[in-house]
Amino acid sequence: MKDKKKSTHVREEKPKLTSEEKHRKIHRKKVAVIFAIALIYLVIVVAAAIVIDDRHVEITLLGDSEQTVEVGVPYADPGAEAYLTGNLFGRMDSAVTLRISGEVNSAEIGDYALEYSASAFGREAVSYRLVHVRDTTPPVITLNHEDGYMASWLVGYSEEGFSAVDNYDGDVTERVIRTEGDDIIYYSVTDSSGNESTVQRVIEYGISEPMIRLEGGEEISYPADFTFTDPGFEAIDESGNDLTAYVQVTGEVKPWIVGSYELNYYIMNEQGETASAKRVVNVVPQPMPDTVVPEEKTIYLTFDDGPGPYTERLLNLLANYGVKATFFVTGNGPDYDDMIGRAYREGHAIGVHSYTHDYSRIYANEQAFFDDFQATEELIYSQTGSYTRLFRFPGGSSNTVSRNYNYGIMSRLARYMTDMGYVFFDWNVTSGDAGETTSTYRVAENVKNGCSEHTVCVVLQHDIKGFSVDAVENIIIWGRNHGYTFKPLDETSFGAHHGTNN
Ligand code: ZN
Repeated sequence: MKDKKKSTHVREEKPKLTSEEKHRKIHRKKVAVIFAIALIYLVIVVAAAIVIDDRHVEITLLGDSEQTVEVGVPYADPGAEAYLTGNLFGRMDSAVTLRISGEVNSAEIGDYALEYSASAFGREAVSYRLVHVRDTTPPVITLNHEDGYMASWLVGYSEEGFSAVDNYDGDVTERVIRTEGDDIIYYSVTDSSGNESTVQRVIEYGISEPMIRLEGGEEISYPADFTFTDPGFEAIDESGNDLTAYVQVTGEVKPWIVGSYELNYYIMNEQGETASAKRVVNVVPQPMPDTVVPEEKTIYLTFDDGPGPYTERLLNLLANYGVKATFFVTGNGPDYDDMIGRAYREGHAIGVHSYTHDYSRIYANEQAFFDDFQATEELIYSQTGSYTRLFRFPGGSSNTVSRNYNYGIMSRLARYMTDMGYVFFDWNVTSGDAGETTSTYRVAENVKNGCSEHTVCVVLQHDIKGFSVDAVENIIIWGRNHGYTFKPLDETSFGAHHGTNN
């Protein structure tokens, strides 16, 4: 329990002051007043100073406020300083903490802003810097050089290659513009920022034209033939490049026509310069054996247009009598082709007649005749393993039917074929089996009568005619009884030429 004190009030009596004490008291009051006034002034002055000083944060950017940097080069900010400063008392030594925001991507062309800020005592300052990331570096062009490369006379300089790389765009090789001047090539390229590079390459040609070397020489002698085969040539330039494949040949040789021809061999390079050579081809007649006309009575039995169904019978008969004859064959009896081989092996002469025996075709032109002729040659070769030089023109060399197809062709063919080394035969005894008669008796009579008028007889019969084949035995017996020898034709034999009429 709290004790309840009894309150007592005591009244003190104030003591009386002396004058000394009064005077002192007044003085103390004066001092206090003066002090108070001074204090007020001081406060006012300090306040005024603070206001006038206006203490605040200030930011100073180091370096230029706008910066330009090359793309790809890391940006190093020059920095900034932040201070508290005022009008009256200036900068304080202790720096205020500075914050920088914003970023410069130096890998990307662009304009970047950096913000610098600082604050103190509730005062804040902000400053900005603009940073330009730019590409001012042109691309770099690199020219390739191949070891030992030399420009060729043919194509001149062939590009060894180049590349272009830009610090910003990367590989810009495809943008390179290549311009060829005389012996100099310019390469230029511009990057996406417009920076241009140009380099040049000086080309040294100095390669003289290749020699075209003609195999066999500049003038050759060429025995007449159906086809001309060039003896060959080669072209090699100074650097050893083989340019043979680029040689063009102009001029024409008709190798079946005896005469002099000129062939021109040339190469034109990309500069339009030419290297050339010339060859004279002298087509000369094939050597021919002299004709030997037998002095004794001779009958050359010749059978045209086979082989056919009666050829085998004929061969049997000839074998029985030991008589050798001549067969001018065609390709018209393919079922009997083997008779060609048999006749050859049994000592008979085989000559070309015609593969088709189609006048309109073989006398249309020289080439058509040659084609047909060569087909027959191949047929003979396939059956005998040997080529023949003997032939007989369908219709004989004196035929006039060829005039319907090509005027003058017989005269030309007779000359060309002879120059090519073929020996053609006509006949001086006709059997009449080609239309005049179908009588075996008449055929035999015709031949016997005809032969009576000649020492050397070349008899024309057709082994595709059975009635004509049937007359042969009679003819052989008659011939032998009258002193004739039966022989096969050869290259020296009497041609019984009629003389051409077209
Ligand atoms: Zn015929």
